[in-house]
Amino acid sequence: IRALHAAMAGTYDAEDSSFRVSVSGGYMTMPGREFRPEEWQIKVDLALFEAKSRMKGGCSAFEQEMDARYVERQTLKDDLREAVEAGRLQAVYQPMYTPDGSRIECCEALARWIHPEKGSIPPDLFVQLAEEMGIVAGITRFMVDRACKDCASWPAPLAVSVNLSAQDLRNDEIVKIVIAALETSGLEPSRLHLEVTESCLMDEVATVRSILADFRARGITIAIDDFGTGFSSLSYLDTLPVDVVKIDRSFVRDITTDSRRFKLLCGIVDLSRALSLHVVIEGVETLEQLALVVERNLADIIQGYVFSPPIAPEQVAEKVASLDRRQLGAGRLFS
Ligand code: C2E
Ligand code: CA
Ligand code: CA
Ligand code: CA
Repeated sequence: IRALHAAMAGTYDAEDSSFRVSVSGGYMTMPGREFRPEEWQIKVDLALFEAKSRMKGGCSAFEQEMDARYVERQTLKDDLREAVEAGRLQAVYQPMYTPDGSRIECCEALARWIHPEKGSIPPDLFVQLAEEMGIVAGITRFMVDRACKDCASWPAPLAVSVNLSAQDLRNDEIVKIVIAALETSGLEPSRLHLEVTESCLMDEVATVRSILADFRARGITIAIDDFGTGFSSLSYLDTLPVDVVKIDRSFVRDITTDSRRFKLLCGIVDLSRALSLHVVIEGVETLEQLALVVERNLADIIQGYVFSPPIAPEQVAEKVASLDRRQLGAGRLFS
């Protein structure tokens, strides 16, 4: 395999694109055991996946625990398919605050799946499984429906923000899904935000652009999620139909201890503002981080544990009401 890789690996130019070739291998030695060809194929494939995930150009042997992991993943996928079909997911909402903490402007809808035996499965994992299975649209449909209904029950102009996955943007069915959710809930489109990650803006540019432009023409706000992690070119970002950037929490984590990280965050914010984008800073956890962000006026909106974790839909209305009461109280104090 190494010799093959050495001989073939490289970048090849085709007519108007180029592609990269590498050679990796998977193999199995199981003396004295008989497998059906299909079984054998799966096991060697598992070893191959392992090799590719380690380093291109390498080679891995099948190991028994790869089987167990594979079966576990397949079982989880079957369960997920059932849960999505039956609508057995939940939505929780993380409030996004003005930097002084006095108002909630929007709540991000986050999917939750409570597995009957395994308990809570992280959304990063089940969204990835759904993408592999090609059923992520089912999750998106559930979340947009739920989020629009819940938001319609909250006081206006509080908005709700829903995550789209890369796959959603390759399929213009998504526009119908969103419009249907707005219509059945009666929610004004201006109260719906959609989050797309930076990396999914990079592929199928024309389709993505036209879908986003369509949403925006209807009054929906578009946010780039996990901003700064996707290596996109800045001049390209400037041409996209986007209103908000959500700066990834990895840029906030060390700002109180590492001045270079703080400068980097300032730079990203200044740049986003130069492109007339609204800035949301995610993952603000401590009062020290909050103080730095507020002092340098880095955020239009702050989302993070320092203000609130994700909460149940009923708790959102309560939180808004208690902030309103506090503001009324403050008003009386000063009048
Ligand atoms: P995300 O879109 O970047 O969502 C923010 C994540 O950061 C949430 O995790 C949230 O609970 C967490 N978070 C918020 N504030 C803080 C903080 O101060 N500190 C730390 N350490 N974390 C904080 P969660 O709910 O586990 O979601 C993880 C990811 O799963 C999301 O990242 C998103 O990529 C994906 N996801 C969740 N729900 C959906 C969905 O409905 N559809 C799609 N396509 N993806 C979803
Ligand atoms: Ca998000
Ligand atoms: Ca994010
Ligand atoms: Ca994310």
